[in-house]
Amino acid sequence: MSQFIPYGRQWISEEDINAVVEVLKSDWLTQGPAIAAFEERVAAYCGARFAVAVANGTAALHLAALAAGFGNGDEVITSPITFVASSNCILHAGAKPIFADIDPLTYCIDAKKVAASLSPRTKGIVAVHFAGLPAGLAELSKLASQRQLILIEDAAHALGATYQVDNKTYRVGSCAHSDMTTLSFHPVKHITTGEGGVITTNNETLYRRLLMLRTHGITRDPEQLSRNEGPWFYEMQDLGFNYRLTDFQAALGSKQLERLDAFVERRREIASAYDKAFEQETEIILPHDSADARSSYHLYVVQLRSISRGKAFESLRSRGIGVNVHYIPVHLQPYYIRTLGHKEGDFPVAESYYGRAISLPMFPAMKDQDIQTVVRHVLETLQELKN
Ligand SMILES: *Cc1c(COP(=O)(O)O)cnc(C)c1O
Repeated sequence: MSQFIPYGRQWISEEDINAVVEVLKSDWLTQGPAIAAFEERVAAYCGARFAVAVANGTAALHLAALAAGFGNGDEVITSPITFVASSNCILHAGAKPIFADIDPLTYCIDAKKVAASLSPRTKGIVAVHFAGLPAGLAELSKLASQRQLILIEDAAHALGATYQVDNKTYRVGSCAHSDMTTLSFHPVKHITTGEGGVITTNNETLYRRLLMLRTHGITRDPEQLSRNEGPWFYEMQDLGFNYRLTDFQAALGSKQLERLDAFVERRREIASAYDKAFEQETEIILPHDSADARSSYHLYVVQLRSISRGKAFESLRSRGIGVNVHYIPVHLQPYYIRTLGHKEGDFPVAESYYGRAISLPMFPAMKDQDIQTVVRHVLETLQELKN
């Protein structure tokens, strides 16, 4: 039996390991200089003024939702096709998630459906760049500024992706069209710190709030203190968390970031190889990509037109191909059904997508041989199931 090819995995080099070991031998395991160095690099890469490193991508979303001021009585619009964290952050802040259906071409939230879901209570939008493809930021940011909404980009899938507005190219994370962007450094994402995340922003007020919320709501900054009783003095001005990243994780992140462009390029190569191999296969609907929103391919998701996704999934798994399904619509999770009263049929585009979607292996360390193995098994499986 040949090796199992997972749908995603990290790529750690000797240099990465050495960078971590160096920090482990230093004086600072946490709250040391590697954090700020990592934050500066992420901000510079994305083209944002500020970056705040946190414990994971979910914590990044949680702090972004709190810094945005989402709270009781507010509604925040997001996509039903995402990881649960994208909408959970709205609940954690005490607000109500309002789902808007996805665009059938991009699988990202449909700006027209967002517009139709606005109410006087709408306070913000959490847009997810699904699979690495930037959501329609031009339209979403227009809506946000017309209605004075906070726009948060959940870019856990989209580090390294770019989009165009009025013929100008922007990097995801630049926050050129949003208030904040969140990233995740889970091992299946573009770069990893084990667990980890970042929030980027260009807004200094939000930046200060995020820094404070990351560390218990405590500040030691003399300029922010309401009084100062001496050099030991600090104030807890808000109710925050310990959502800090460690220095050895930050060092790993900085090293990984050096290879990010190469990682993204390899992901795009793999996507092109799949596109080409499946172009003639009428059963497969290929993922969308375009010059005005260039995916960084966290995932490569195809839809099956008529063949059972369940059967294809089982057959491919038994052949050692680590296919996956991204995602079960969030509104159909028992907790969401119970607390928000959702039911099947509420978001038909998302539900139809979910019934047909299957994610193929996609990670930069994949060898050409692995790509060929996946292609062969997919085509054989479809042939078998057609008969
Ligand atoms: C991975 C992911 C998250 C959460 O990131 P963690 O680092 O695992 O907490 C949030 N949103 C989306 C869309 C994700 O894929």
